[in-house]
Amino acid sequence: MKMQFHHLFLLSSIAMASTGNVKAELAHLDAHVHGLAELMIAIEGQTVDIQLQSPAMNLVGFEHKAHSESEIDAVQRAESLLNSPNLLFSFKGGQCSLIETSVDISSVLENDHSELDGHHHEHETDGEHHNEVSAHYQYHCNNTDELAAVSVNMFNDFPDIKQTRVLWLTESKQAATTLDSDNYTVIFK
Ligand SMILES: [Zn+2]
Repeated sequence: MKMQFHHLFLLSSIAMASTGNVKAELAHLDAHVHGLAELMIAIEGQTVDIQLQSPAMNLVGFEHKAHSESEIDAVQRAESLLNSPNLLFSFKGGQCSLIETSVDISSVLENDHSELDGHHHEHETDGEHHNEVSAHYQYHCNNTDELAAVSVNMFNDFPDIKQTRVLWLTESKQAATTLDSDNYTVIFK
């Protein structure tokens, strides 16, 4: 999954290398900023790849490993929402259907539960400790030429996402845009 994202990222870097201001957008996308999520949409042939990357803070309200019951609930809620792309994304045109969903929320999940018992945990709230959550969605579209727009419906479910920076690219063009709760549709045409 990571490989695929890097591949997309590289593609877009090459595609955009000539455009100075888009390069600046790209630098923005590299930052870990609370309140900001990042979305990359690549349309190639009949395939649409959507890669979401966000500070865990935006999705669960913390960035350490979930310990308390409420923290674990928050992680499960976020994971379940991220695994529901039919709720998160609505396509206009293109006749797209979901092929694959993959969510990586491991940065805020305790790997070894035995660690929970009897051990004193290091404090992880010193501001140096940042974690990200990522998700990847792949769609097959019968006619990507007819794909006019994608609405990103995550601002209500995740109110801590104040803005989402979007990079999107097709075989012939690329653009960057910013979404928020009032303006949540990426228009390709
Ligand atoms: Zn952070």
